[in-house]
Amino acid sequence: MQLAMIEDKVIPYAELEPVYLDRGAFFGDGVYEVIRSYEGRLFALDEHLARFARSLREIAIDGVDIADVRQRIETAFDRASIVNAKVYFHITRGSGDRGHGAPKDMKPRFFLTVMELADNPKNKEDGISVSTFPDWRWKRCDIKSLNLLPNVLAKMDAEKKGCGEAILVNDAGEVTEGSSSAFFIVRAGGREIVTRPLGPDILPSITRAIVERMAGEAGVRMIEAAFRPEDAGRAEEMFLAVTTQDIVPVVRFDGTQVGTGRPGACTKRLIEIFAEYARRRR
Ligand code: PLP
Repeated sequence: MQLAMIEDKVIPYAELEPVYLDRGAFFGDGVYEVIRSYEGRLFALDEHLARFARSLREIAIDGVDIADVRQRIETAFDRASIVNAKVYFHITRGSGDRGHGAPKDMKPRFFLTVMELADNPKNKEDGISVSTFPDWRWKRCDIKSLNLLPNVLAKMDAEKKGCGEAILVNDAGEVTEGSSSAFFIVRAGGREIVTRPLGPDILPSITRAIVERMAGEAGVRMIEAAFRPEDAGRAEEMFLAVTTQDIVPVVRFDGTQVGTGRPGACTKRLIEIFAEYARRRR
């Protein structure tokens, strides 16, 4: 008899629920997004849906109707009635007998959660510590895929060191991004913010794009350039950009104090402008 074992329970293979045979679980064969709301209104939904559609295209998951995905997100968000929510969703290639090749008739599977967003104001007020970790990821990090093992290992290492985020460093010795965030350094007396150029080695972060849009208003120039941990170590300020927390000041980098050890003026200005931008977009 073909069978399966779930924890310690044996069941006939034919009775397995499809969720157990999902290619997301077997191979990380799927893509995802995380969206948040500010005060009851989803933020940057169009941008997230556009990135999601691109991720699907890049891994050849076909036949997904993005208008339908939007509808599901809006329905779930309305139903949850959570004012400051985090909406996670993914689509996997489908479910079936484990095998690397995917049958043509496989049907993509959708999953979504709406949760209370755990805002952490202390991170914004005091800043966080980060530590570096090797960037062990694949060569298409521009796709928001479910394959996150290197990101998970990096974050676990950071946590072990008492840090809030891991900053990934590639084989060329350059900083790419955070394990789940974009990373910026501030220089030139707070007039320049520097982040890695978009490309296959980083995720095109939506928050990064918004920071780019805000730069003029904040009186800073955003420079897209490669830099190394040594450059970061000399930075006046640094910060992370990520949907769930928007902008987070970084005050320690690999154990060394950044600037005064408190969130800097440039980062604070960006946080304020972001908050205003999020309010306007509601
Ligand atoms: N880079 C990585 C690897 C991420 O996982 C994330 C978000 O989860 C980001 C950057 C930030 O992207 P976004 O601003 O779209 O949330």
